[in-house]
Amino acid sequence: MPADDKYMHNIADNLNRVHRQIQQIADRAGRDAGEIQLLAVSKGQPAAAIRMAYELGQRHFGENYLQEALEKQQALVDLTDICWHFIGPLQSNKTRKIAEQFDWIHSVDRYRVAQRLSARRPETVAPLNVCLQVNIDDEPSKSGVTVEALPTLADEVIKLPRLNLRGLMCIPRSQTDLQQQRRAFAHLATQLGSLRHSTQLARLDTLSMGMSDDLEAAILEGATIVRIGTAIFGPRQSTA
Ligand SMILES: *Cc1c(COP(=O)(O)O)cnc(C)c1O
Repeated sequence: MPADDKYMHNIADNLNRVHRQIQQIADRAGRDAGEIQLLAVSKGQPAAAIRMAYELGQRHFGENYLQEALEKQQALVDLTDICWHFIGPLQSNKTRKIAEQFDWIHSVDRYRVAQRLSARRPETVAPLNVCLQVNIDDEPSKSGVTVEALPTLADEVIKLPRLNLRGLMCIPRSQTDLQQQRRAFAHLATQLGSLRHSTQLARLDTLSMGMSDDLEAAILEGATIVRIGTAIFGPRQSTA
């Protein structure tokens, strides 16, 4: 079998397995698997791998690094209904390209960046879907707004005209115990619940949480977008 075919087979098997896992966990949780979107995290993977996943029906892809993403988007311009999510750290000097080239941003954690993204979102396309990244374990060196500062940030971001605030995202501290993993995700779900008490935030509908190693805990606690990289594409070839 040519190398490309083998890679394609792996991605097909992996995608099937992840879809099956999502279905099984959702069944156990009494949730509708249709409300859980699989975001294929393609950082460190070549454009050819994204194209293969696309041909297998995958439409949502997540990237962490702007330059790397732009190169792949260029190579994949013919895939007109592909949906690009930016999930990496945001630098304010890169907001123009990000606002132009992505459909979703999961990593907004300060007002200044949100404001710039809104100002730079072209009028010709729909408002940019945004999740606020929350530093859910309160780790000093980690990105994300603190739980304490979250309500104020949400109240500010919801007013920005070219952003569509959708919900919350987190990257918890790495844990292997399911109960420990669930605790962090439950904490994020609680934060979304309390924001939704306010009338202007009642329509927030997204919990972006869960990666290859904590998918189960995330779905059990209400994830609506799971961000899966290695379980779909295998080890990353570069993290430029
Ligand atoms: C890399 C990354 C993922 C995917 O991680 P895997 O362990 O490969 O599934 C998900 N979310 C974010 C924010 C990432 O940076």
